[in-house]
Amino acid sequence: MIFINGEAVDTGEHRTVLQAALANGFYVPHFCWHPELSIVGNCRVCLVEQEGRGVGIACNMPVVDGMRIETDSETVRAQRKAMLQFILLNHPVDCGICDKAGECTLQDYHYAYNGEPALSHDPKLKSTKLYPLSSRILLDNERCILCSRCVRFTREVSGSDVLGIEYRGDSALVRPAEGRTLDDDPYSDNVIDICPVGALLSRSFLHQARVWYLEATPSVCPRCARGCTVQLWHRKPEWHLKALDPSRNTRILRVTPLENPRVNGPWICNRGRDLGEVLERPRAEQALQKGAGVTMMEAIEATRALIAESTRGIALVSSWASNEEVRAFQSALGQSFTSFVKPDRLPEEGEMVEDELLIRADKNPNTRAAQALFGSDAPEIPEDADLILVWGEGVDFAQLPRGARIVFLGSWLLPEVGHADVFIPLSIQTERRGHYTNFEGVVSAFEPCQPRPEGVIDAETLFPLLAAPGGARGRA
Ligand code: SF4
Ligand code: SF4
Repeated sequence: MIFINGEAVDTGEHRTVLQAALANGFYVPHFCWHPELSIVGNCRVCLVEQEGRGVGIACNMPVVDGMRIETDSETVRAQRKAMLQFILLNHPVDCGICDKAGECTLQDYHYAYNGEPALSHDPKLKSTKLYPLSSRILLDNERCILCSRCVRFTREVSGSDVLGIEYRGDSALVRPAEGRTLDDDPYSDNVIDICPVGALLSRSFLHQARVWYLEATPSVCPRCARGCTVQLWHRKPEWHLKALDPSRNTRILRVTPLENPRVNGPWICNRGRDLGEVLERPRAEQALQKGAGVTMMEAIEATRALIAESTRGIALVSSWASNEEVRAFQSALGQSFTSFVKPDRLPEEGEMVEDELLIRADKNPNTRAAQALFGSDAPEIPEDADLILVWGEGVDFAQLPRGARIVFLGSWLLPEVGHADVFIPLSIQTERRGHYTNFEGVVSAFEPCQPRPEGVIDAETLFPLLAAPGGARGRA
């Protein structure tokens, strides 16, 4: 038990005053401290006053039973203000063009604890602008406050050891180790999130939008079986641009982690950040029969007829389908097909296949839930199959039995859409809500954030419509 601002506080498991204060609703400003990184105590902003011992940094102050702490005394405020004056000595006040504006703790603390013009009359030091740390990240050394969070992240979390600080004093610079770049680190973009100021900049998000024009939709990264929880950032409806290209208003502008201790902690990998390259591929929005455009109802009728005629139907179930969709398929069509789960996506060339932090070798989000209903991966498809329902990607039609009719349910404009007997376009994750079950059995929810194109249908709506009377063949 300690006392903070006169209130008795149960410190529980917390070993430092900063942790105990934050956990009990007493905010103490901090730049260099991060709950997942080691303590360095170099920003000196988390100052608090201990009765009888004076002012010290809370991040490295051990909890001692009965201690009395003031987080906002006159002395603390004066010293904190002096620290902010010092940190801002060489920091440019370029919030107007800085991507971090609106999310910058230096900006927030300046207004909360300082709020005055610089006391120094010396010109601010010049340093490197837009230094290329990798093909994904730029560094503005003038904005860097040398908190060393990015350096500690590569040492302690991702383990790439790419970053360090060279030189001393006001010449100090964050730099990659000789001969290396942050491209060596598949988790590099986390340093952009944890940088407390706008020193580390995402090339793909650079000057794309002010963050207050955006909103974040909770979602799940589908790019591997970890199923990291993420936020998909897109423009708020009230800030839609009257642009010629309306897709600019619904595009995913950035992907950031949504902290989840059971799945990914506060981190995601760079593949998760690049979700747009998968989800924003050209869509298939037209139902087809043997490559010719038909209405959705005509495609559904044609599929019902094929199912009704079939006696040896095989379904290749998508491992990108949600829990709700695989259950809807089982209840409507489970008796009409012998079903197997297939991987929709495999590791790509150059991609990190698996590691000990987050990345899993299975590049699909819902294999576990699908396999719980339909068994493991597809064996050789029997040559006498008369109907094959292909749901999702990853199937080479040339390898399917020649005599079988093919119904293809997919979302992207792939060459296969024109080669199926019937093609039905489906909605994607960002157009509907649902859940995935990750490889450890943790269920996470995703929400819609993009409008569903007119010509596509949700799989959950489709399957009951395909359950043609008489289509059931009594298979287990
Ligand atoms: S670049 Fe950002 S995270 Fe890295 S030391 Fe500088 S301020 Fe800290
Ligand atoms: S670890 Fe897997 S689920 Fe997590 S962000 Fe990376 S690809 Fe996505």
